Amino acid sequence: MRILVVEDEKKVARFIQQGLEEELYAVDVAHDGEKGLQMATAENYDLLILDVMLPKMSGLDLIKAVRAKHKTTPTLILTAKTTTEDKVAGLDSGADDYLTKPFAFEELLARVRSLLRRGAQEKSTLLRVSNLELDTVTHKAKRNGKSIDLTAKEYSLLEYFMRNRDRVLSRTIISEHIWDYNFDTGTNIIDVYVNHLRNKVDEGFEPKLIHTVRGVGYVMKEG
Ligand code: CA
Repeated sequence: MRILVVEDEKKVARFIQQGLEEELYAVDVAHDGEKGLQMATAENYDLLILDVMLPKMSGLDLIKAVRAKHKTTPTLILTAKTTTEDKVAGLDSGADDYLTKPFAFEELLARVRSLLRRGAQEKSTLLRVSNLELDTVTHKAKRNGKSIDLTAKEYSLLEYFMRNRDRVLSRTIISEHIWDYNFDTGTNIIDVYVNHLRNKVDEGFEPKLIHTVRGVGYVMKEG
């Protein structure tokens, strides 16, 4: 899952980016509201994390502008303000949730997981497709009760497949949600990763779950 963080305090931005990357999310950062809006509308993010007080354009104006373009990307605002009015203004601008600074990183992560579940069928931290299970908190995968060791990127790819089961995913869509801005899409790296993942997840198990859709991409489905 790919997240955009818009935060002008570089130390805080780096802290959030690092923490999210350690949890295997792909993360891009913008340091002002205008750049943030440009990135939020040009790319397909799974989640936006916005500071409210930003140079050039506030976080609230940013989210209003994103919503005006009919983008429903789940959005969490970070606010140093703690009055009820400020929280109401944040939610009314189109944000889905807010977190007051300073915050515990564990709470940020829990809110991120909760927002990523919204609109999805899964309301639990455990994703399931057939006899394959993926725990989005511990990042552990099991098939038929047997543990599967995954690298960081394999985990991200599997999480994305499982959250989008039965949906055909093109290589472009996959790259947009799994890799950050610096990813070079001109390579066959996605096929390489999908093949590695398929060897671990499907080899020796039934039913096969990762299927190639010729000329398009991949789909995760039962049979
Ligand atoms: Ca700020």
